[in-house]
Parts: sequence; structure tokens; C-alpha cells
Amino acid sequence: MRILAAVRNSFRNEFATTNHHVVNVGCCVRGPGRRARPGRVDRVSGVCYGAGVSSQTQLVQLAREDARLYQLKQQIANLPRRIAELGKERSALELQGREAEGRLQNADSTRRKLEGELADARAKKNKSEGRLSSITSTDQYQAVQKEVGTMSERIDTLESQVLEALERVDEVQRQRDAEAARVAQAVEGIEAQKRQLAADLEAAKASLEEQNARREGALVGVDGHTRTVYERILKAKGDAALSIVSLANCGICKAVQPPQVVQQLRQGTGLQTCQMCGRILVWDAPA
Ligand SMILES: [Zn+2]
Repeated sequence: MRILAAVRNSFRNEFATTNHHVVNVGCCVRGPGRRARPGRVDRVSGVCYGAGVSSQTQLVQLAREDARLYQLKQQIANLPRRIAELGKERSALELQGREAEGRLQNADSTRRKLEGELADARAKKNKSEGRLSSITSTDQYQAVQKEVGTMSERIDTLESQVLEALERVDEVQRQRDAEAARVAQAVEGIEAQKRQLAADLEAAKASLEEQNARREGALVGVDGHTRTVYERILKAKGDAALSIVSLANCGICKAVQPPQVVQQLRQGTGLQTCQMCGRILVWDAPA
């Protein structure tokens, strides 16, 4: 992305003032083992009007089309991964929703269990109380009365616990509802993003053929030697073969170029490549 931004910045500057800024690469090429073939350079504008001037402009145009092509290919390569990541985000959110639901079910099950125990304790107490009227022995009567007392205490405790459990259920239900709303909203956002990315992916795929054709079109007019060098660098770099020099820095890797390279770029004598990244350099004269 950093490289793309650099390429885009370079081209934004470049195409604002194309004719004045583009120095000769194509017609005054001096590749390895080649002698310079100077064209007629307009001393004022710095633009070469010799044979192959279209090659120079076309080279920059080609790099621009390649930057777009690179961007499309990056999108096609990366968007499915982003879409899959969003799918995982959605699953994680849905899991959080299910966990909140699980906490509610637990709280409710605790409430039901306590209510069952309370009902049992009440039934036992009633049963014991029922026995009291038919008991004749004092010892037995006292024992059963003690039982009733114990049950009453147990019932008090359980009633408090049931109340607490009811409050807990209310609280957890509110949390579950809030969580469900949050998850639903987040999932909606994720789905909107996924739809957008899927549309971007389809658009990128659909433009690929046209962009390849545009690239082929831009190749016309770039002379054979420059094209060979350009294609070789592009293949090695993957992203961009051409970089605009601004002041004395390579527009992509930012390496400062030696004065003689800058001088030759200014004069448009020969094909210059970046000392650091090896990309073909194009001079962007200060406005
Ligand atoms: Zn560089």
C-alpha cells in the first residue's frame, strides 16, 4: 500500500504537468552496452521532440496502467481474505450472543431448582403439621414439632434464595437482550461491509480484462529496448517498474540519487535506474 501510494503520488504530480515534466527515457535511451541516441531536446521545456517522444509518454502511461493493474490484482488477491475475516468476526459475535443466552438459561435453571426445593420443603412441612394432630406421645410430638420448625427455617432460606434467583434471572435477561441487540447491530455492520467488499471484488474482477487491454494499448509506442528493461524490472519488483524522482529522491523507495544521476535525468540523457530499488527513474522537475 505504501508503494502504491507513492506511485499514485508520483503520478498525481506527473500528470498535472506531463509535457513539461517528462524527460526523455524512450528516445534518448542508453541501456547497457548501448550508445546514447540523443533526440532533439527542447532546451526550454526539457521535452525531447526527437524520434520516440511518444515512447517516453507511453512509458509513463504504461506505468500508470500497471499501477492500476497492480491495484486490481491486489484487491482480487486480498478481498476474499478480508471477507473471510469478517465471517470470523461474525461467528465470534454470534458466539458471544450464545454465551449470554447460556448464562440466562443457567440462571433460569437455578431458579427452577430452588423453586422445586421450596415446594418440597412446604409439602414436607404440611405433612409434618398434618401428623401432629394424630400423635399421642409427647416425645414424638416434640420431635415432629422440631421437624416443622426446621422446615420453616429451610422454607425461609429457600424463599430468600428464590427471590435472589428471580432477580438474577431479570438481570441476566437484560444483559442477554442488550447483548443480542449489540450482536445484531454489529452483524448488520459486518454484513454491509461484506457486501461492499464482495461488490468491490466483483468490480475488480470485471475491470481486469479491460485494464489488461489498456495496458496492452499503453505498450504500443514504447520502444523495444525500454520495454524489455521495463518488463524485467516489473517482473522482479511485482508492483511498479517506474518511479518519479522528486528533488533527488526516488518516489518509491525514497533513496537519494547521486548528483550525476539527477543531472542526467534533468538532461534526459539515457535510461536511469534507482541506485537502491532499481526502478526506472523519471524526472519530475519542480513546478
Ligand atoms: Zn528507488
